[in-house]
Amino acid sequence: MFQKDIETMPRSQIEALQLERLKSLVKYCYDNVPFYHKRLDEAGVTPEKIKTLADIRYIPYTTKADMRDNYPFGLFAAPQKDIVRIHASSGTTGKPTVVGYTAGDLDMWSDCMARLVMAAGADENTIVQICFGYGLFTGALGLHYGLEKIGATVVPSSSGNTEKQIMLMKDFGTTALVSTPSYAQYIGELAREKGVLGDLKLELGLFGSEGCTIEMRNAVEKTLGLFATDNYGMSELNGPGVSGECRERCGMHINEDHFLAEIIDPETGEVLPRGSEGELVVTTLTKRGMPVLRYRTKDITRIDCETCACGRTFARMEKPKGRSDDMLKIRGVNVFPSQIETVLMGFEEIAPHYQLVLTRENFSDRLEIKVELADGYTHLLDNFPQLEELHARITKELKIVLGISTKLTLMGSKTLERFQGKAKRIVDLRK
Ligand SMILES: [Zn+2]
Repeated sequence: MFQKDIETMPRSQIEALQLERLKSLVKYCYDNVPFYHKRLDEAGVTPEKIKTLADIRYIPYTTKADMRDNYPFGLFAAPQKDIVRIHASSGTTGKPTVVGYTAGDLDMWSDCMARLVMAAGADENTIVQICFGYGLFTGALGLHYGLEKIGATVVPSSSGNTEKQIMLMKDFGTTALVSTPSYAQYIGELAREKGVLGDLKLELGLFGSEGCTIEMRNAVEKTLGLFATDNYGMSELNGPGVSGECRERCGMHINEDHFLAEIIDPETGEVLPRGSEGELVVTTLTKRGMPVLRYRTKDITRIDCETCACGRTFARMEKPKGRSDDMLKIRGVNVFPSQIETVLMGFEEIAPHYQLVLTRENFSDRLEIKVELADGYTHLLDNFPQLEELHARITKELKIVLGISTKLTLMGSKTLERFQGKAKRIVDLRK
């Protein structure tokens, strides 16, 4: 463990530390961020009103819209001279959300990442290639500093140029890979095609930046012959490092000394009892550049506070079910792409490459699921009865799980686009 005394702290001590930090954070936000000063005043909350952890419920939520409204630096609490780094979200629509870090924030971030990569199994002997795009995106630099902190050998190869990535992997004896699961899959396929898959020494995948079901992860692990963990975060809160899996892989340990997590009812905003499923809300307890009070992540999950088999006491959150943003509404039915992924990956004849195409015909939504056949099964395309039989089995399973009919198209290998970063699997042509 990177910081054993903290990572195995008894629950009562964790909560005492969280309360002490929450009190000081609320005062800090009230004194330094006009936005929070006004929000807290309107809600009738003074910093003195926070006497227990449960009193956090008096504090209003912060949303992505609040961040956009305060673009670019409106939520910064530290003066510009103390800000040493700025990151921003990809911001596919409109302005990005901007985050500023003090030197202390970067230290905290590196510590959080160091804990998570060690929990995943990395150490000073690890040679790790970071195949995330560097730049404003928090993923690459977050992992980079955490891995350096534990003494791993970091190769900042960034994304793209897959053939060169594979060459470096082989020549350097790279043992760990930081990438999206879909890019890892692509690397594995290309390495196999080039006949060098057997020369790679990859043991560990530190996946992130894209939702991934356990079934999809199993498929990628099989392709590359490695063990992979997932971690969680978002640029609004810090970047990666909020939580991550240990080798037990029974939930992602939340770095609770720095992040206070709550679960709320996404409809009513009411705080739900421990163990309930709901929307994750996070407060950054120690950030000073741009602290966030009760950020609504829109991620649906559940938190378990029992001590983990690995010895860590930090609570574990389940892999988010899918962001409410990712949810597809099809003929009035809510469908999460992860549900479709789970069904598809349950068939050994299917490769981990799929695309969801939504169209509207005669005022009715239509979902087409295009998916590639796995390498040993492409001959089915020439065997109509067998192809039909497989098609019927998958369609039936999709109908059971999703509750709606879909159009399934089985395709040959390498017919769908490959991605070097986050996979774009949804094509919505309804608008
Ligand atoms: Zn654990």
